[in-house]
Amino acid sequence: MKYAKITAGLLVLILLFLSFSKPGTHTETEFLMDTLISVTTYGSQAKTATGQVFTRLREIDKKCNAHNAESEIARLNNAPTGVVVSLDPEVFDILKIALEFSQASEGAFDVTLLPVSRLWGLSSGSPKRPDEEVLASALAKTGYQHLALDETNCTVTKEIDGVQIDLGAVAKGYAAEEAIKLLKEQGIRHAYLDLGGNIAVMGGKPLGFWESVVTGKKTRPFLIGLQQPDAPRGTIMETLSLSEGYVVTSGDYERYFEEGGKRYHHIIDPNTGYPADTHIKSVTVVSDNGTEADMLSTALFVLGSDRMELLKDRCKAIYVVDNQMNFKTVKPLTE
Ligand code: ADP
Ligand code: MG
Repeated sequence: MKYAKITAGLLVLILLFLSFSKPGTHTETEFLMDTLISVTTYGSQAKTATGQVFTRLREIDKKCNAHNAESEIARLNNAPTGVVVSLDPEVFDILKIALEFSQASEGAFDVTLLPVSRLWGLSSGSPKRPDEEVLASALAKTGYQHLALDETNCTVTKEIDGVQIDLGAVAKGYAAEEAIKLLKEQGIRHAYLDLGGNIAVMGGKPLGFWESVVTGKKTRPFLIGLQQPDAPRGTIMETLSLSEGYVVTSGDYERYFEEGGKRYHHIIDPNTGYPADTHIKSVTVVSDNGTEADMLSTALFVLGSDRMELLKDRCKAIYVVDNQMNFKTVKPLTE
């Protein structure tokens, strides 16, 4: 009888312990890559692995940031026409992926827009509408086809004067994918990353003890809220459930200025040099490829609803908010 009481007491204690114990969760946030980056990982190695992720993200930022004079990209941007520039192999690979995508998007995505985006000044903090002639001459210096890549030697040669690279619409996606890769190598099985609108999830969200007992499951999909443009942060239009993959949004409401009642934002139409005007407030893309998800959201924004068909097969899902603030599912998530 006495032993039965002790056993029952022990059982209650164990159950209480299990019900309060959550799988080790660790969240860190840092301003990096010109945005707020937040990494949440689960498991006993969560803290160490998260630290390593930030080290890796800083490394990628240092190489890829066109606005950092020390970066590989800045070195390439300062090189004269016709000179063979050898690049860090990782930066070379990102550039190669971006150029291939530029072609696939029929030029809606273009990594050579820096001379134009610099004139709009949205990254420098002093935005203004550029003079039309100045804009036209900057636009003449753009075009992804003006770069010659040599894969064997990891070199790039500029074919016209003034071509400059900006990986701003692809680097965060690449970084998200590298972060997930690194976490997997560290034995982490569940994670949620937010790189300024580039969401990456892995392995679903682990459930606590009682949730597991009730549902009979160890994890559930992460819930990803899609922001309503121009509303206070956290105002959600739709919630996606996803255990594995990448969700990226490009919109006109994060980086912009207004002049004469018109909004000028940071996503440029490579044909005109002006902010893309396709009657869209935001595009969200779901993909299994993080690098491509980032490029896709930018490209779809430029293409607009009429031309999205071009890249639809590359996306697992597409959602659009138009300038009447209507939410539209262009391609539904089927898993
Ligand atoms: P964010 O970086 O704010 O998440 P995007 O991924 O859509 O948004 O990238 C926008 C950035 O990419 C701009 O700030 C600019 O540096 C660059 N960019 C703008 N237009 C284009 C374009 N058509 N193709 C490729 N890069 C672009
Ligand atoms: Mg992008």
